Amino acid sequence: MKIFQKGFNYSQDGDGNRLVYHLQGCNMRCPWCANPEGMPIEGVIVADEDWILESICPHHAITGSNVNRTICESCEKMECITEHSTKGMYLSYEELTVDEVVDEVLANEMMFYDGGGVTFTGGEVTVQFEEIREVLKRLKAHGIHTAIETNGAHGRLAELFPYIDQLIMDCKLCDSKKHEAMTGIPSEPVMKNIREAAKKHPRLHVRVPLVGGVNDSEEDREAFLRFFDEIKGENVTFEVLAYHEFGKKKWAQCGREYQMTEKAYVDDTVLKCFRKAIADIGACYRRT
Ligand code: SF4
Repeated sequence: MKIFQKGFNYSQDGDGNRLVYHLQGCNMRCPWCANPEGMPIEGVIVADEDWILESICPHHAITGSNVNRTICESCEKMECITEHSTKGMYLSYEELTVDEVVDEVLANEMMFYDGGGVTFTGGEVTVQFEEIREVLKRLKAHGIHTAIETNGAHGRLAELFPYIDQLIMDCKLCDSKKHEAMTGIPSEPVMKNIREAAKKHPRLHVRVPLVGGVNDSEEDREAFLRFFDEIKGENVTFEVLAYHEFGKKKWAQCGREYQMTEKAYVDDTVLKCFRKAIADIGACYRRT
């Protein structure tokens, strides 16, 4: 399995203290993504300007702290990562086998206090579908509390339901054309999966990343509320998270342009209003 980040986190990606794995590869292309290094399944060479050294590139692609990615595109040997091991340039992911992930989780079981366990997020977990299904199945058999955080677009997502205790799904937009323009995928597959999860999964948490100029209009909010009214139930909770630019620096480190602007920040009044509107339709609003 390709994993680009892992570590413990308390109460943000599921209950209690959790070991969180970020899996490489995503089928969406959201420009506000906080983990751009996790987007390409083939990985990306990350350049950390604080540690970079010109000497690790024999093709003169590095000048000071700048990397000429045009030169990198035609680089076959990638000596910066194959012949050197520095903090300055590194491949975004490490590879572990399914056995290794399962063993690692089990070895950390004593740390899963306050109802904790393991969470798989991304990137997008379902891009490595067969592997994640096997890992979840085996961890569930060991009695480990499992959670995934998904963009919800995978056509076989429901196959994972029996092995997930806590299912966290993004709902970015209801309007399909806008969803496709922003993420590269229409909203229908996502909404279909959320509907199915609301019917079949005992514990679904739906998250809206609220982004100014993307999904914070009155029209968008009304569409969200109609959808949430349809899927609400005792097994479903909702959360609205405001845009942040924590990932901005990482876009540069991946050699990519960060396209979000100040307009993406959401006014606190709009945020509170949306959260209240969810509670007002009788849906359960809460933070994970
Ligand atoms: S991939 Fe690495 S070795 Fe190749 S040109 Fe880029 S910086 Fe140089």
